[in-house]
Amino acid sequence: MTYGVIFWGTRGSIPTPGPGTARYGGNTPSIEVRDEASNDGAVAILDAGTGIRALGNKLLGNGTPISADLLVTHTHWDHIQGLPFFGPFFEQGNAIRIWGARQSGTDLEEILRNQMSPVVFPVPLDGVAADLVVSHVEAGAFEVSGFRIQAIQVRHPGTTLAYRLTPNGGGASFAYVPDNELGPGGDYDVPKSWRQDFVEFLQGVDLLIHDAMYMSDELERHRGWGHSSNVEAVELAVEAGVKQLALFHHRPEHDDDKVDAMLEQARATAKDCGSAVDVIAAREGLELTL
Ligand SMILES: [Zn+2]
Ligand SMILES: [Zn+2]
Repeated sequence: MTYGVIFWGTRGSIPTPGPGTARYGGNTPSIEVRDEASNDGAVAILDAGTGIRALGNKLLGNGTPISADLLVTHTHWDHIQGLPFFGPFFEQGNAIRIWGARQSGTDLEEILRNQMSPVVFPVPLDGVAADLVVSHVEAGAFEVSGFRIQAIQVRHPGTTLAYRLTPNGGGASFAYVPDNELGPGGDYDVPKSWRQDFVEFLQGVDLLIHDAMYMSDELERHRGWGHSSNVEAVELAVEAGVKQLALFHHRPEHDDDKVDAMLEQARATAKDCGSAVDVIAAREGLELTL
């Protein structure tokens, strides 16, 4: 199966609209995954940052009932803050399944319910018109419409999952790892063999979308914050034999020129490693075909 991976939000932490971020985009993470040959309303979505609002509007514009599987990596604001503004929620006939991990023993549905509590948002989760199902996932494998999903816990505060997607009928696979601390620092609930496990998990993916929030010189002050540098992301991609790496979760403080410079440095690192990995920087509106 050939499918499209479309970036609706690439920014980490907080939306950053404005002229300085116009090229790479200011919306927080959301990615659409769809079978390009099909027009049946089925779509997989990775994370519900503010980018999901415009994605929802596009889906509504297609005119067919929407059947969406939303995979949430974790529930930090930047990965769920667009969800209350996801238009397909508010139309009957749409089916939305949300998948994600419990956080410190709290059900995902309860977290989303609190996000739409009247003290912070006018419309409660129960006011949603679409058919909504919230399911828990842990590290391991499961299936959503058209895709086999593998999940592994990564090094980031809370229970944060990375997802690897492979079409059920075979085809290219890709991995989505928006928030992950590859370097030392932080106290995460992962085994000692984590790095090796993670490299195996990613082995040979056609596309790796990975946290590349910092430049190396910014890392020291942010150990334990749960993020990686552009150089660390490249080193991982090389180790795992990845074909293409998309630098992701751009730092709010970085404007487009800074992201350009980080991309250039990342490509130089790949070259120094003797690797042919194709390094790009994710930008809003970018569509990749796998
Ligand atoms: Zn994040
Ligand atoms: Zn996070």
